[in-house]
Amino acid sequence: MGQDVPRRIVVVGGGTAGWMAAAALVSVLPARRVQVTLIESEAIGIIGVGEATLPHLRQFNETIGIDEAEFLEATSATMKLGIEFVNWARIGDRYVHPFGDFGADIAGLPFHQAWSRMRAAGQSGEIGDYSLPVRMCAENRFERPADDPTDFASRFGYAYQFDATRYAPFLRQHAEARGASRVEGIVNAVHRDPATGNIHRLDLDNGQVVDGDFFFDCTGFRGVLIEQALNVGYEDWSHWLPCNRAIAVPSEKSGPTPPYTRATAHQAGWQWRIPLQHRTGNGHVYASDFTDDDAARQVLLDNLEGNALADPRPLRFTTGRRKQFWSHNCISVGLAGGFLEPLESTSIHLTQIAITQFIELFPVTGDYKLERDSYNAHIAREFERVRDFLILHYHATERTDSAFWNYVRTMPIPDSLAEKMALFRETGRVARYQQGLFLEPSWLAVYLGQRVHPNHWDGRLDVIADAALDQSLNAIQSDIERAIARMPDHDTWLARLATRAEDSRHG
Ligand SMILES: Cc1cc2nc3c(=O)[nH]c(=O)nc-3n(C[C@H](O)[C@H](O)[C@H](O)COP(=O)(O)OP(=O)(O)OC[C@H]3O[C@@H](n4cnc5c(N)ncnc54)[C@H](O)[C@@H]3O)c2cc1C
Repeated sequence: MGQDVPRRIVVVGGGTAGWMAAAALVSVLPARRVQVTLIESEAIGIIGVGEATLPHLRQFNETIGIDEAEFLEATSATMKLGIEFVNWARIGDRYVHPFGDFGADIAGLPFHQAWSRMRAAGQSGEIGDYSLPVRMCAENRFERPADDPTDFASRFGYAYQFDATRYAPFLRQHAEARGASRVEGIVNAVHRDPATGNIHRLDLDNGQVVDGDFFFDCTGFRGVLIEQALNVGYEDWSHWLPCNRAIAVPSEKSGPTPPYTRATAHQAGWQWRIPLQHRTGNGHVYASDFTDDDAARQVLLDNLEGNALADPRPLRFTTGRRKQFWSHNCISVGLAGGFLEPLESTSIHLTQIAITQFIELFPVTGDYKLERDSYNAHIAREFERVRDFLILHYHATERTDSAFWNYVRTMPIPDSLAEKMALFRETGRVARYQQGLFLEPSWLAVYLGQRVHPNHWDGRLDVIADAALDQSLNAIQSDIERAIARMPDHDTWLARLATRAEDSRHG
């Protein structure tokens, strides 16, 4: 073991971020190299919202050794194939951003190129008609993707919708069973080495003292280490993403359980609907410059599909990120590192990236400089790419019915997004990134769903006759319908899973 490996890693905060970090560190790094201690305070509590996720969480759970069936049961999870956006480009519009491809390449070119040409000729359906997960959402079906990569039914992914208050306790059991220790208390003083500025000791309100070599700040919006002690500063992106408040409420279930999250645009924000096994999660995310709290609460309650199960809970946030995610011997993970509103369910994913990126750089060198610079650049890029993708949802609108929509439609946008949109409009090509969360199908779903259509398609398609393209499109639709016909509905799938879990407990 190198001398500089930090042995004692202290995680401050026991929300989703803190327990994800602790569980990953003890599951992936050898115990002889690290001791993990997590400090949390029941008096402060966790934010406890954050119910929709992205498919990458499956990989995280798998890597740290979590059994999927146990996880689904413990968190009352349902399956998620994408997000349905309602009223975004125009009131009455709907589209799904699915976890999966549209169609399949035609003549070696991305499917949407052929689709654009056939659409211009008035000979195609909606782009979603050529996506298996979009059609599964429409039919309320679910099955895991096929293992055989040549099977059309292998070409999609899935994520989870889960009870956010249950994931952290589930991870806690997992982490403690693998050697993480937990300390109850509130950190009220942070001691730093005068020579290096590194944190080395934390005082708790109950008189305990915790020493460490490396620290994870998972204290949520407070940023107790990264901001209150290390003062790294915050980059505020509210001018691009003006929503800054949310009001959340659970409601009774009504009807079959959809295998997708819904985001319905309102006059000054939007409302989520996240179906769980036992209830539905709802929240109205809004911009306080364009509406007031009472009106926002009323919009939420007026648009519930079942009776409210609790009093609505208000939350406030500032969209943006820490100027440095890693400073001295401390990294900020989860809400402590920054927050982008939950429109594309990216927060837990950014938490996952922050943790896995640290683990990839481990063991770190003495002064952390090389790792810190690379880490800060990497996480900043991830945040910026998610930011641009979120801005697209607001900016690419034709709505003129409120001051909020007029603002986001006409506001200046980051150059990185403006260039990407111009390329798509002109050529139908989606700029490719080497890194970054959202790939071509995601950008396509939102461009086309928000009525951003390319002016041209790939000229190589012009040598193919309409009839041949038509046949290819029809063949794809037939593959999709055949695959769907074999799938159970989502509730049946969940019930089978519960029966299997019950059987394995008793047998
Ligand atoms: C409105 C809204 C909707 C969201 N929806 C989604 C979604 O759909 N999908 C998604 O991926 N994410 C979503 N998120 C984000 C998600 O909630 C968070 O990423 C996730 O809960 C992680 O939070 P956290 O652990 O960073 O912070 P928290 O849950 O706030 O936990 C902070 C922890 O720090 C501890 N703490 C704080 N100060 C101290 C101190 N001084 N001493 C000791 N301990 C301390 C607290 O006790 C607590 O344990 C949403 C967030 C909001 C605001």
